[in-house]
Amino acid sequence: MTVQINRERLAATFTELCEISSPSRKEGAIAAHLKKSFAALGADSVYEDDSASRTGSESGNLIVRFAGNQPEREGLFFSCHMDTVEPGMGVRVVRTGDIFTSAGETVLGGDDKTGIAAVLELLALLKENRIPHPKIEVVVTTCEEIGLLGAKHLDYKKLETPYGYALDSTGINHVVIGAPAANKIMIELKGVAAHAGLCPEAGINALALTVQALAGIRLGRLDDESTCNFGIIQGGVATNIVPDKVVLRGEVRSHSQEKLTRYTDEIFAAFQSTVDNWQGGPAT
Ligand SMILES: [Zn+2]
Repeated sequence: MTVQINRERLAATFTELCEISSPSRKEGAIAAHLKKSFAALGADSVYEDDSASRTGSESGNLIVRFAGNQPEREGLFFSCHMDTVEPGMGVRVVRTGDIFTSAGETVLGGDDKTGIAAVLELLALLKENRIPHPKIEVVVTTCEEIGLLGAKHLDYKKLETPYGYALDSTGINHVVIGAPAANKIMIELKGVAAHAGLCPEAGINALALTVQALAGIRLGRLDDESTCNFGIIQGGVATNIVPDKVVLRGEVRSHSQEKLTRYTDEIFAAFQSTVDNWQGGPAT
């Protein structure tokens, strides 16, 4: 059985979703809209979990269930997120042929309204064509863009299907089956401020400490499944002041939890050793 996607309905659904602004934590309107949409598609249950109090969102995550009519077959879920990045208030969609953009003042919100629109179209096709299917659950999370907060506070025991697909990626012809874990790193080096012209001996240059430590650390690709980067350095107030504080921010990523821990520990050890071996006085 071949079923044609209703392109214009899909386009209309997508546009409607985009124009319901939903920056992270302001998902109340989109959640209310989605509850109605799923109910209209014949959902057997539409459940909003209690994660809102922990994520700070206007809404909890939605878990929507379509029981289907093939109980002998294993069900599956589809997952999307309902929030967008900023600037995301007052989204207006401009359509030029098959290209959708925002009017220019905001993001479009295609991430992840495309995923939600695809699921709604799928459910509409299943319903109107009376296509037999096993249990389908739809999980629409909040606050994805600010650290996957909705997903982190989702009660997975509420799900009845064992596995599913997260529809939140670029392209239509690939599936992501693994992702690295990451450690975000913030290192603050404290030296001693001093006037660089009058009494530089009294100072400990936190910037010099940082550079020295950083020079001993491997950056970039560490092995075939791990990377490391420092991307932000902040410190110092004037060319004639020995800087007494530098803050460095970076990250380590790895598909191996053991390597992630080891590389992260190595970085902190390298900084600690640089500080410990400093000859000029107490730095921390
Ligand atoms: Zn996304």
